[in-house]
This record gives sequence, C-alpha cells and structure tokens, in this order.
Amino acid sequence: MFTARDVSKVYHSGEVEVVALAGIDLDLYPGEMVVLLGPSGSGKSTLLNIIGGLDRASTGTVRFRDEQISDYPEWKLTRYRRAHVGFVFQFYNLIPSLTARENVALVAEISKNPMPPEEALEMVGLKHRLDHFPAQMSGGEQQRVAIARAIAKRPDVLFCDEPTGALDSKTGILVLDVLYRINAELGATIAIITHNADIRKIAHRVISFRDGTIEGVERNETRLKPT
Ligand code: ADP
Ligand code: ADP
Repeated sequence: MFTARDVSKVYHSGEVEVVALAGIDLDLYPGEMVVLLGPSGSGKSTLLNIIGGLDRASTGTVRFRDEQISDYPEWKLTRYRRAHVGFVFQFYNLIPSLTARENVALVAEISKNPMPPEEALEMVGLKHRLDHFPAQMSGGEQQRVAIARAIAKRPDVLFCDEPTGALDSKTGILVLDVLYRINAELGATIAIITHNADIRKIAHRVISFRDGTIEGVERNETRLKPT
C-alpha cells in the first residue's frame, strides 16, 4: 500500500542541521497492523507524518498505491490526506464546545462517503456518549472519540502517534481493542508509534528505529488479541 524508498529528512533550525531520517526503506501492506518502536527522537513521527502527507521528505520517494505522493503539489497532498488518511495523536484534540457526535461529524463532513457519527461512535463502544462533551468523558473515552473521528471518513490507513501515551494501562487496553477491531473489521491498514508492550503483541510486524534509520523488522508470528 505504501512504498518509501531512501527517504531522508533534514530539519534546519538556524545554523544547526538535524537529520531526522537517514535513508529509510519501508513497505506497508494493505490490511496490516504495524508498530513503530524506538527511542524518542529516532524519527518515527517524522516518517508517519511524511507518509501521511502532513510533512515532506527532503529526498527519496513515497508511493501510495500507484501514486507517487512525494511529487504531489500541496493541494494534491491535502486532497490525498483528506481522502485516505486518519490520524490519532497522544492528546485527543477534540473541540471542547462540541459533543462527541458533533466532533465526529465535523471531520466526516469533508469526506465523500462518511460513516454516520453514530456508527463510528458505536464502533468504539461509545454509543451511550453521543451527546456528551469532552470534559464529561474520561481520557480513554476522549481518545475513543478521537478514533471515531478518524475512522468516520473511512480512511484506508490510520496513523496513531502514542495513542495510549496519556492513558493508564487498563484504559489503554480498551483503546487497543478498538484499534484491533478497526483493523480486523474495516480492514484498515494501521501504523502505531508506541512504547506500550501490549500493542506489540497485537501487531503483525514491529519496526525498530534508531537514529533516523530502521534497525530491524520483526514479524509477529504469535499475534494475540488484546485481553
Ligand atoms: P520520534 O517520533 O522517534 O520521537 P521524531 O520524528 O519526532 O522522533 O524526531 C526525529 C528528530 O527530528 C529529532 O531529533 C527531533 O528533535 C527532530 N525534529 C522533529 N521535528 C522537528 C522540527 N519540526 N524541527 C526541527 N527538528 C525536528
Ligand atoms: P484537514 O484534513 O482538515 O486538512 P489536516 O490534514 O491538517 O486536516 O490534519 C489531519 C488531522 O490531523 C486533523 O485531525 C488535525 O487536527 C490533526 N493534526 C494535524 N497536524 C497535527 C499535529 N502536528 N499535532 C496534532 N494534530 C495534528
């Protein structure tokens, strides 16, 4: 589904150059769930942002299906991102003045074939929270609203950057269960940046980063359901 070849990213801050990615090669396959592991600063977020069309590589190519998205002008990259990519971040970025249903509906609006917000919220187990505001919900519930918002546009791929990073382990498991079901039932390709060992158990592959390079790729032969 994705092919990244020799992807590098250099950030310039004043006189200083930071090499965030140094020649990455990576393929992501349709329907796969992968975990990106590695120390802070090793380039994981930079890579997902580039593949997701939020940022650009300095050199190298990124393909999505038959399209070379690394050549896209800005407007085409935005169109690609809106049509195909869902994002989930550590902090939920919900709009406080809108209910769960309204938060989900807002993003679904820009999509061609959105899921009804009620259906997306049911999928994450929050049918009973449709008319609640973010402040009336726990962290885990807010993250599940954020996931509902991401899946309501029926993305082909979901990129999650530390989705359980702000949650206790029990609440984190509920979020994992939701991601597992989205992968299994919607067939969405999912890439997750995490330190959470429970997520590694449910992934098809674990990709380890170090200093802007991929240090190793491990296939998980004994993939488990979250429990
Ligand atoms: P990770 O996700 O593995 O923690 P990142 O991709 O966030 O790593 O960061 C990789 C490197 O790039 C780090 O050294 C980080 O400080 C640097 N970096 C990331 N974003 C920026 C930016 N916008 N400007 C300058 N440096 C950045
Ligand atoms: P749109 O599809 O409306 O143009 P974007 O593509 O800019 O929106 O962003 C996609 C999603 O990612 C949105 O939910 C946006 O709030 C979120 N997002 C984008 N960049 C960041 C970031 N750096 N940190 C947190 N959330 C972000």
